[in-house]
Amino acid sequence: MPTESTFLFAGLLFLAAALGYVFARYGDFDEDAEELRESARANFVKGFRHLLNEEPDQAVEVFTSSGDMDEEGLETQIAVGGLFRRRGEIDRAIRMHQNLLDRPGINRTQRDKARFALAEDFFSAGLFDRAEDLYLQLREAGEYRIAALRRLLRICEVTAEWDRAVDLCGELLRIEPGAVPLAQLAHYYCELAEQARRQGNWKEASRLLDQADSAEPGKLRCTLIRGDLAADQGQMAVAAAAYAEIARAAPAMLGDILPRLLRTVPASGLGQLLDEVTGTPEGLRGIALAVIRDPQINHPGAIDSLGRFIEQQPILRDLAGAGFPASTAMDSRRQAIERVRKALQQLTPPGTNYQCADCGYYSSVLQWQCPGCRAWDTVSAADRLLFKGSPV
Ligand SMILES: [Zn+2]
Repeated sequence: MPTESTFLFAGLLFLAAALGYVFARYGDFDEDAEELRESARANFVKGFRHLLNEEPDQAVEVFTSSGDMDEEGLETQIAVGGLFRRRGEIDRAIRMHQNLLDRPGINRTQRDKARFALAEDFFSAGLFDRAEDLYLQLREAGEYRIAALRRLLRICEVTAEWDRAVDLCGELLRIEPGAVPLAQLAHYYCELAEQARRQGNWKEASRLLDQADSAEPGKLRCTLIRGDLAADQGQMAVAAAAYAEIARAAPAMLGDILPRLLRTVPASGLGQLLDEVTGTPEGLRGIALAVIRDPQINHPGAIDSLGRFIEQQPILRDLAGAGFPASTAMDSRRQAIERVRKALQQLTPPGTNYQCADCGYYSSVLQWQCPGCRAWDTVSAADRLLFKGSPV
């Protein structure tokens, strides 16, 4: 029975044959050129036959051993190599593309095309050093300049070379304004600011946060690092103000913010802040989630917020037991809340506190860049998991 890949290759064969026909029909009729085309066409048909017969090594041998090559042959070899790469057969893809690059007769445009294809093979295989060498050769000019710079940027993200990422962003933006979202550039500055903060270099961290603000004003990550930076230096009021700003603006981040608020906001002001934040359904939900997930949180106001959330959820109300919330005895109310809290903690699989909206990747901690799809600002608290089936 034909496999999916067989159909794929058969489609490519049809395309190549059709191109060959058109070329022969409308092209010039120079005798030497026609002889070359015939020879190349025969060779590629032979190569495709090997592919259709699931003999990929023989196919690679035929493709790479053909003599002089025209544009059509080069495109076909790059396409077949790309198919090998997508099938995970990186060694074969590399052999196909390296062979093109080693051919002495190809022109600059063709060399760039082969070089980019080979770089993509190394990149897919995680051989970043070798990929980087090739992308650097494509960086200066030509058709693949921007694509190569984008790949170099991606490699910097993987290797956490944030200084270099900032420089590459600048280069990309000079060539093509809008080539990189400014939010992404702001994240690179934030990464550098966090590095500086970890090293105790508070002044440098603050300067880098200013840079991040210039790239994208009002970034919550900046506010969070500013709060942490102030807390490091014992400026609790400044830290508390930063955390409170995030709590109001982004209730989904309360899982990370509430423990910080509890450490920095004076006891006299916390009740008022909690009342304010839980005044919206998102805020109440955010506090409830934070309390459920963090067993260390025992602040009475935060626990009471979870109680109010339970009151609004029929399923959770049933879980709390008959009489909730009618019971006026504080002890029995607190016990019922703790019962629901423990049950929900057990229902949440480890490492699934956060989820990427783009690819669905789960993680246990907040990530500014999704480790799965590498998108920025797509990971948030995975509250649907906890309240699946809930009307809220
Ligand atoms: Zn993702």
